[in-house]
Amino acid sequence: MAHSEIPLSRPSITEREERLVLEVLRSGRLSIGPMVERFEQLIAERVGTRHAVACSSGTAGLHMVLASLGIGPGDEVVTTPFSFIASANAILYVGAKPVFADICPKSLNADPEAVERAIGPRTKAILAVEAFGNPTHMSEYARIASKHEIFLIEDCCEALGVRHEGRNAGAFGRAGVFGFYPNKQITTGEGGMVVTNDDRLADLCRSMRNQGRAVAGRGSIGTGASAGSWLSHERLGYNYRMSEVNAAIGVAQMERLDEIIAQRQRVANRYMQRLMDVPDLILPTIPEGAEMSWFVFVVRLAAGYTREERDRVIQGLRNHDIGAADYFPCIHLQPFYREAFGFREGQFPIAESVSQRTLALPFFGEMTDREIDLVAQTVQVILGREQLSRGTAR
Ligand SMILES: *Cc1c(COP(=O)(O)O)cnc(C)c1O
Repeated sequence: MAHSEIPLSRPSITEREERLVLEVLRSGRLSIGPMVERFEQLIAERVGTRHAVACSSGTAGLHMVLASLGIGPGDEVVTTPFSFIASANAILYVGAKPVFADICPKSLNADPEAVERAIGPRTKAILAVEAFGNPTHMSEYARIASKHEIFLIEDCCEALGVRHEGRNAGAFGRAGVFGFYPNKQITTGEGGMVVTNDDRLADLCRSMRNQGRAVAGRGSIGTGASAGSWLSHERLGYNYRMSEVNAAIGVAQMERLDEIIAQRQRVANRYMQRLMDVPDLILPTIPEGAEMSWFVFVVRLAAGYTREERDRVIQGLRNHDIGAADYFPCIHLQPFYREAFGFREGQFPIAESVSQRTLALPFFGEMTDREIDLVAQTVQVILGREQLSRGTAR
């Protein structure tokens, strides 16, 4: 593959991140320390939840939330097929069954009606995702969950800083989970965070991330006779801890969150302007009244375009040293899901039709106007070529 001169994404790292990382390195305390607590506090304050529990990845956070809620074999969890694979994989980790609900073609999130239809006697939770940070339908999922007396779990890995209908992403359900991989709004290298107002769920996650140990200072939340001792493991746990080094990056990133969101908004605005009038290109939609925090900039080709044509556009961009990717292939059509569960084409037609026509463009806060314009212009030229070859040029 060609070396990308304009990468798909790039984290925003300043001297502040370097300074805090150095502070940790010099402190000699590289895990289980004050930096993780500081990071947790910053996230809890921002989202407005009582608890924030840092962990090693968004995926680990989802796993712990599902396990904390007692979801397991025989249970079903309704979720979207149009997401990063981690959101459905976490359901498999606890032995439960993901039940997909087709998406709404505008928001790209699970269609609330399809979600409600997918709920059955075994359904324990809705695992909702803000696809590309779009918070549409979150309040509706919350209403559906409470009506059916099931949990709403928010996979808000793509939505840190998003606000909608008076609530922050992460605060719509029983628990929310953020991820801090380097392409997210903020990064810790690798990392994740569970947010919740549920004291018990938070304690269970704190215990589970640390090999099932009793939670320090809170005493036992299980029934372990020797609770409180460091080597007393009360439940099946994992090593899902976040290191102090990772947390230091996160603290610096959280201090700069508003600046980071504003930079990304500027890039999104300019893309919108530059791409608005390109024929056959569908731009992202933002719900009325939402305060966005952009994760990626994903556009899609008009209905009727094929996967092959979309892939040619991606390849064309890469040939010009411009990063591009097919966010997201449908989860149910991933080789593992086809093989393990027998999913096939045609089961979730809207997700499939959208997914074969989407493409992510380079997106990061430090993109220059010149870079944005170059990407927009190249998209237009390459798409024009496709239109010529199919005879739909205008
Ligand atoms: C990034 C992401 C995750 C996983 O986060 P990791 O930190 O990479 O484990 C989960 N769900 C969605 C929707 C994501 O975008």
